[in-house]
Order: sequence, then structure tokens, then C-alpha cells
Amino acid sequence: MLIVMKPDAAEDDISYVVRRAASLGLTPHVSAQNGSVLVGLTGDKRGLALDSMAGLRGVARVQPTDHPFRLASKEFRREATIVSVGGVSIGSTQVVICAGPCSLETRGQVQQSARAVKAAGGSLLRGGAFKPRSSPYAFQGLAEGGLQLLADARQATGLPVVTEVLAPDQVPLVARYADMLQVGARNMQNYPLLHAVGETRMPVLLKRGMSSTIEELLLAAEYILSHGNPNIVLCERGIRTFETYTRNTLDINAVASLKELTHLPVFVDPSHGTGKASLVAAASRAAVAAGADGLIIEVHPEPEHAWSDGFQSLTPAELTALLTQLAPIAQAIGRSL
Ligand code: PEP
Ligand code: MN
Repeated sequence: MLIVMKPDAAEDDISYVVRRAASLGLTPHVSAQNGSVLVGLTGDKRGLALDSMAGLRGVARVQPTDHPFRLASKEFRREATIVSVGGVSIGSTQVVICAGPCSLETRGQVQQSARAVKAAGGSLLRGGAFKPRSSPYAFQGLAEGGLQLLADARQATGLPVVTEVLAPDQVPLVARYADMLQVGARNMQNYPLLHAVGETRMPVLLKRGMSSTIEELLLAAEYILSHGNPNIVLCERGIRTFETYTRNTLDINAVASLKELTHLPVFVDPSHGTGKASLVAAASRAAVAAGADGLIIEVHPEPEHAWSDGFQSLTPAELTALLTQLAPIAQAIGRSL
């Protein structure tokens, strides 16, 4: 539910509405829009006679929200949210390229990858130190050692870094090294983890669960928002369908749908979305054309020797060629790369 204040509402009127909502056990979220203040109310509204709020001084109207997600909706906030990651703005006119290896493996591999991303024109470096692997026998990541390699690569190149956090108790450690916390597809509905990253106020890259609907993705974002963290970038990374030729089915519809539904920026992961290096360029071109605010792409100096996901990783030369192709597509829809 949204309380829309009159344009000339006084500070006292707004704070009275906020106190009244809090006294009813609700959490008020104040934002501004087109010269009016909005007070979004979240919490359990059962049994509360909220229509009476319409009569309070300074209130223009009380508006029920149509969506089960509220803070993430465009009703709550019409202007696009811009998330700043170490000085890189996501959600403005520039299409942001985040690239790097699936897993952080060795100092040489991380440094080479970082230099390749920088040289190709990427703005953010990715790499996993805590890896969510389907098999317990597969490489699970270098843990803090990997985070240190990532931080060293940031130091060497100036690229802010994005890395996955798998569990709530890892959040303080990962937050010490990362510029952006990644919540992976397998954890999209790990509510204690969403709560923990929500408490940090750090930028969060929230990947869509492989069997999750668009609404479930937005509700996962709502958990983070409702814990006070507005710095969320959503990521379409492909969903499970009957198709087996590709690893996942990249849902380009989700990009346009999310742009209709939410003010949060939207990334696309064409690497996990296709699972084939040969398809990454086409999927990336489609994602930029559909309005994605950025891409997260796996790249490895030697994909054939990667410790994870080499089959879907680009070489540095392929990344450079891809970014060259994407620039005119971004331009054609009024953006830059
Ligand atoms: C990843 O980006 O490294 C990853 C594991 O992706 P996802 O969570 O989308 O599978
Ligand atoms: Mn991967």
C-alpha cells in the first residue's frame, strides 16, 4: 500500500504518517516522486483499517498496490534506480560489461583475466571464490584465498569486483573484499541470505533462480529491499525448460518484462544462459537490444583448461570482438557501451 502525500504536505504531516504506520506495526518506506512524497507501507496489514490514513493531514490518497512486490515496483518508484559499484553506475545510459572467469583459480589466471577484461573495455571484474557446484566432488572454489586474488586484480587494474556469497555467515568476509555481492541462481530463495545481504547496503547482483518466475525474482529482491538495501541489480541467467541443446533457455522476455515492472536495473548472463561459448555473442547482442543494463560474461585466458565452465567461457580475443559488436547495438537504442 502506498500513501501519496500532497505536493504541499509539511514535514510534520509526513512524519505523523510515518509514526502512525510504525505504531500499527508496519514499516514505512519514504521516497519522493514528481514533487510528491510517497510512503510505502510493508508488513502484515490484516485487520488494520488503513483507509483512515486517507483522512490524515497532508495525505492526497491511499493507493493499494497491485503487485505482491511493492518496493521493487514502478508504482513505488518511477525513476530508474542507479546502482553504483565502486564508481561504475549501473542503470543509466551506459551498458555495463562485467566479465571474468567462472572460478578464481590461480594468481596468474586472475591477473590475466582482469587485464583482458580491462583491455576489452569491461568495467567490472567477476570471479567466484565460493562456488555452488552441482557435484560435491567438483572444485568448490579457493574461498578467502580467491577473494584475495580478486582484490589484488582490482588493485592492478582498477576494476571493481563482483563475487558470489553462498551463505549468510560468509557475508561479512565476502563484503570485506567485494564491491558487489552476487547471490546465485541456486540461492535466489535463500531467505536468510537475502536478509543478510539486505542488512549490508552493498550492491547486490541477484540472479534469477533456474526455475523461478519473474514474480518470484522480484519477491526475492523485495526481501533485500525490505531489509533496507536499495542497491540491487537483477540478473536473467536462463531458466530450465524442456530444451537440452542449450544449458538453459535465456529468457529475453524477462528483460523487457522486468523493465516494465521494476525500477531496478537488469543484467543478463549470456554464459550461463546458453552454456555454450559459441552462442554467447548472439545472446549478448539480443540482451543489449532488449534493453539490458549490463552483461555478466565468463572469460578465461585458456577456456579449455578452466576449472569450471570452460565450455561457456570466451577467450580474451572473443570478448574484445564481442564488445566491438555490441557498441553499435547499444547506440541504436540510445545507449553507450
Ligand atoms: C556464476 O555466475 O558463477 C553462477 C554460478 O551462476 P548461476 O548462479 O547463475 O548459476
Ligand atoms: Mn560459471
